[in-house]
Amino acid sequence: MKQFQDLVEEVQKPGLCRLCGGCVNFCTAINYGALAFDRTGTPYLKDRDKCIECGLCYAICPETSELDTELKINFKWTPPMGNYIKILAARSKDPKIRNLATDGGVVTSLLLFLLDRGFIDGAIVSRQKDSLERKPYLAASKQEILESAGFYMDHSQGMQEFSSKYSTYSSSIEELSPMMQKGFRRVAFVGLPCQINTVRKMEALGIVPTDAIKYYLGLFCSGTLVFGEKEKRILQEMGNFYWDELKKINIKEDFMLHLQNGQTRHIPLNNLDFMKKYACFFCDDYSAEFADISFGGLGAKEGWTTVVTRTTKGRNTYLESQNEFLEEYQGTDRKEHLEQIVDKCRTYSKHKKQQAKSMRQNLGKT
Ligand SMILES: Cc1cc2nc3c(=O)[nH]c(=O)nc-3n(C[C@H](O)[C@H](O)[C@H](O)COP(=O)(O)OP(=O)(O)OC[C@H]3O[C@@H](n4cnc5c(N)ncnc54)[C@H](O)[C@@H]3O)c2cc1C
Ligand code: SF4
Ligand code: SF4
Ligand code: SF4
Repeated sequence: MKQFQDLVEEVQKPGLCRLCGGCVNFCTAINYGALAFDRTGTPYLKDRDKCIECGLCYAICPETSELDTELKINFKWTPPMGNYIKILAARSKDPKIRNLATDGGVVTSLLLFLLDRGFIDGAIVSRQKDSLERKPYLAASKQEILESAGFYMDHSQGMQEFSSKYSTYSSSIEELSPMMQKGFRRVAFVGLPCQINTVRKMEALGIVPTDAIKYYLGLFCSGTLVFGEKEKRILQEMGNFYWDELKKINIKEDFMLHLQNGQTRHIPLNNLDFMKKYACFFCDDYSAEFADISFGGLGAKEGWTTVVTRTTKGRNTYLESQNEFLEEYQGTDRKEHLEQIVDKCRTYSKHKKQQAKSMRQNLGKT
């Protein structure tokens, strides 16, 4: 049975670790200190004698193909973007939420609906820590869910002190332990495709605390961007703006920088490969294929969220929340707009798979 040393050889050494934290957080011997994170957030075997060689860390790693077949069968997976029931464009009915949100505020509105109806005790989201950095967070009230909406930057908190690296990645899996400690039994998990994949693998193995995760809400992802001083300078030149003019960032077809004067700068994502996490070039899931519902901005008009309902639970949740919390795009071009969204979702998913395949071939991996 493969175990952590195999993750080191097959995943870490070739640079494919996505730093999702799953192996450390759910190591069977975590309480005995077998695995730990080093200063860069990379997992390492802290005490070989404590490892009981159970193989769990290897099985749940999103970079290994263990359990892939089970997940695909469980979720009726089909190429190129997994199973889905419906793809649509929607937004929150509440203009205040739309104003806070990344796109149409659908994720935030759905979480508020689930909390309001007592379907969840809380949600694992991501919250602004400072500047560009987000931090995983277990939100348990309406206010906390609202405060976690969006992808905002706080330019008032001294952007000039931007000396260390910042990342768009938020290690949400770490919040599963506090969730258990606080006794939460019904939680919604918001995560990127790799995080949804890890937690679904744990669920397939029946590992506690996934029994408490009742809703899997996935975000589209073309890659994690890592910022430092150098990258910041290059971005300013590319987008012809000054950092302190920034109001909000977003990722859709391209990287969007919304300025305080109402203008938006667009930078093609290909131009940002220099700041993309290396492991992300090998990731083949664009649209969170194993979520109950996936969300992105791709294809949707400004201020709307692309919503992909995948499981029966996901579809029912969307439908139940619709009347009071959400509105669906109903413009006169609705039919063409939806066709365009579906087409883009499929195309971007295919492209990500092709890129991952060719990167793997270059590494001699299939
Ligand atoms: C790193 C990253 C990359 C993305 N890349 C793309 C892309 O390439 N194409 C695309 O179409 N869409 C992408 N998205 C999704 C898009 O930015 C929106 O999150 C999505 O459209 C939902 O918008 P909304 O207004 O409905 O969400 P909101 O109502 O604003 O809610 C967003 C929710 O996501 C949570 N969240 C924010 N950041 C993170 C994070 N890093 N990890 C986990 N949870 C988080 C928030 O706490 C909040 O609960 C990406 C999102 C992230 C976080
Ligand atoms: S105890 Fe199991 S999960 Fe932990 S490091 Fe060893 S093989 Fe991996
Ligand atoms: S489980 Fe996550 S953190 Fe651990 S080796 Fe795999 S990708 Fe890296
Ligand atoms: S591309 Fe996105 S989903 Fe894939 S490994 Fe990177 S952060 Fe995770």
